[in-house]
Amino acid sequence: MGASTAQTQVDISLAVYDKGAVTIERLQLPPRGPGEIDVAITSAAICGSDLHTVLGHRETPERTALGHEGVGRITDVDPDVVDLRGATLRPGDRVVFALFSSCGSCDRCTAGLPMKCRSLVKYGHESVLKPPHATGTLATGVRLLPGVPVVRIPDSLSDSVVVSAGCAVATAGAIIAAAGPLAPRTRVLVFGAGAVGAYCAAMLTSLGCIVQVREPSAERLAIVEEFGATAAHPDAEPFPVVVEASGSATAFVEALHATDIGGRVVAAGSVSPGQSTASIDPALLVTRRITVSGVHNYTIDDFRRGVDWLLAHGRDLNLDRLLSPPLPLSAAAEGFRQMQTGRYPRVLIRPDLTEAAQ
Ligand SMILES: [Zn+2]
Ligand SMILES: [Zn+2]
Repeated sequence: MGASTAQTQVDISLAVYDKGAVTIERLQLPPRGPGEIDVAITSAAICGSDLHTVLGHRETPERTALGHEGVGRITDVDPDVVDLRGATLRPGDRVVFALFSSCGSCDRCTAGLPMKCRSLVKYGHESVLKPPHATGTLATGVRLLPGVPVVRIPDSLSDSVVVSAGCAVATAGAIIAAAGPLAPRTRVLVFGAGAVGAYCAAMLTSLGCIVQVREPSAERLAIVEEFGATAAHPDAEPFPVVVEASGSATAFVEALHATDIGGRVVAAGSVSPGQSTASIDPALLVTRRITVSGVHNYTIDDFRRGVDWLLAHGRDLNLDRLLSPPLPLSAAAEGFRQMQTGRYPRVLIRPDLTEAAQ
C-alpha cells in the first residue's frame, strides 16, 4: 500500500467565512492520506485577497477556510517526503509552503501555468467540506496535499520574516521574472506599497535596480524608503519597467503613461474581475511598443526565488513593518476589520496567543 498514514485524528480550529461572517470553527480531521503533510501554524497573515473574499468581491464556496500565507512546524509526514530542495521532511521541521496544489500534468501545468491547473486546489479559497478540509492558514493547523510545494526554513529567521512567503513574496518573485532581464541600475516604477509592491521594491533594489514607488500613504512610503526605494518623482522621465501592484484601474492607465518606448508593464494588483474598469488609449501601447504582462499568483520557480531572497536578505530588512501587532486566532474577524482600514499591509495572526495575552 506504499507509505504509511497517520492513524490518529487531528483537531484544529480555523477561521471560516460563510454568509457574510468570519467565525472560528473546530474541525476533527480524518487521518491524513499518503503524501499529505500536517503543519501546526505558528504565524499567518491576512492578505488583501482574503479581504476580497470576506467583502464578497468573489464567488466563494460554502464555509471557506480562510488564509493562505503562513509558517509552521510539521506535525505529521510520511518518511519519504522531500521539500523543493530535496531535503527529507520530518516532524518538527519549520516550513513555508505555496498556496496551491497542482497536478503537474494537465495542459496548463505543462504550459508553465501551475497556478491555473485544471485540478487546482487553492489554499484559502476552498470549503472546509472538501478534502483535505484544513486548507486555510488562519488556523491552528493546515493539511498540505502532495502537490503543494514546501520549503524547510531555518529557525534563525523569525516568523514575521517568512510568514508571507506563500503569497506576497512569491508573487513579487513572479513579477520580477515577468519584468524580464533587469540589468543593474534599471529604473523601475512601482505603483502601490502594499505587501506585494513593498516586497517587489525590496527585491528590485537588492538586484541593483533604481526603484521609485507611487503610493498615497505616507506610512507605506516610509516602509519602502527603508527598503531602498524612493517616492516617485512627478516629473520623472518614462521608465523602461513599470509594475502595477496597487489594484487601482486608474493606476494601470497611469502605468502605461509612465512607460518608455519599448518598455514593459507588469500588472499584478487587480485580482478581482469586475471591481473596477478604466479606459485606455490603445495607441499608447501600440506607438510606444509597450509589452504588458499580467501576473496572478506564481510558478513553483517564483516561489523558490522568493524564499531564496528571504533567506538571503530577510534578516537585513525590517519586514516586521509590513505586519500589524499579532492577534490571536479568536480575533480573526477583528483582523479583517483592521485589514479594511488599510493601516497595515498585512494583519498578523498568531494561533498560540490567547485573547488575554493581547
Ligand atoms: Zn495541472
Ligand atoms: Zn495572498
